[in-house]
Amino acid sequence: LAPILLHFLYSTATPYTTLPSVLLLGPPGAGKTALTTLFERGPLDLPLAKTHTSQVTSSIELSINSDDPSSASYKTNLDEAGATAKKFLLVDTPGHPKLRASSLARLNSAEPTIKSSLVSDGGAKSKIKAVVFMVDAAALADGDALPSTAEYLYDVLLTLQKRFHSRNGSRAPASMPVLVAANKLDLFTALPAALVKSNLEAELGRIRAARSKGLLDSGVGQDDLAAGEEGDWLGGDGSEKFSFAQMMEFDVDVDVIGGSVTGDGPGAEKWWKWIGERV
Ligand code: GDP
Repeated sequence: LAPILLHFLYSTATPYTTLPSVLLLGPPGAGKTALTTLFERGPLDLPLAKTHTSQVTSSIELSINSDDPSSASYKTNLDEAGATAKKFLLVDTPGHPKLRASSLARLNSAEPTIKSSLVSDGGAKSKIKAVVFMVDAAALADGDALPSTAEYLYDVLLTLQKRFHSRNGSRAPASMPVLVAANKLDLFTALPAALVKSNLEAELGRIRAARSKGLLDSGVGQDDLAAGEEGDWLGGDGSEKFSFAQMMEFDVDVDVIGGSVTGDGPGAEKWWKWIGERV
């Protein structure tokens, strides 16, 4: 009787299980679709098909070993391993610049949620626990991709920073971990993660200076900028150099970790562990 009762209680009390989400962002071509496919199917022997630029948001359901996420691998069959699985959604968003606003809008609340596109949970609202911002470390090496990649990242971080101030009464919004996944490190032309980090920080600093200058030119006073909780100044202090560490003040914890989805590179294990520790 007990299992039947439990089943009954479960099916009436919680018609849908709402899983937490990890939002996957980044410019087109960074490898978001490839990563989603890799996590969903495990390592592929066949080379990944070149994907079209996706126009829609898609979620996949993934499981991670909740006993010890740090030891888990996306290659482990959790059922076979007899492990307790923690489930979450990986939500791949369209990277096309024209469609970014909708990705950003989802982060713009104290308790960011996303409507799952899974049929199985009735499109329930899922809590966003972390953001993975994927970049193409090979494209960043020749510099052309740096301004547009940093521009997108700037908007993501600024949205999260502004969200920090949209507190509900005295409760600060939950902290938001951000992983900058430096992809394609299998290519010898790719920048190592440390350089991806410093190049992005330098470019974010340039964008910050340019935007604040734009505001000054448009008549917004220096005092307004300094007071500007709602301003466009990314990061805490007014220091010349931008660093990701400045985002800690707003409970936005940024890590830059290198990896690869295809080819003979460092693989995606570190990213998987990072995600597992945050869902
Ligand atoms: P998205 O637009 O961010 O979804 O990017 P895709 O997943 O469509 O990937 C863009 C291209 O990069 C595809 O041709 C992928 O095969 C390729 N790609 C993805 N990850 C890697 C990687 O780690 N190394 C290399 N060399 N190519 C990759």
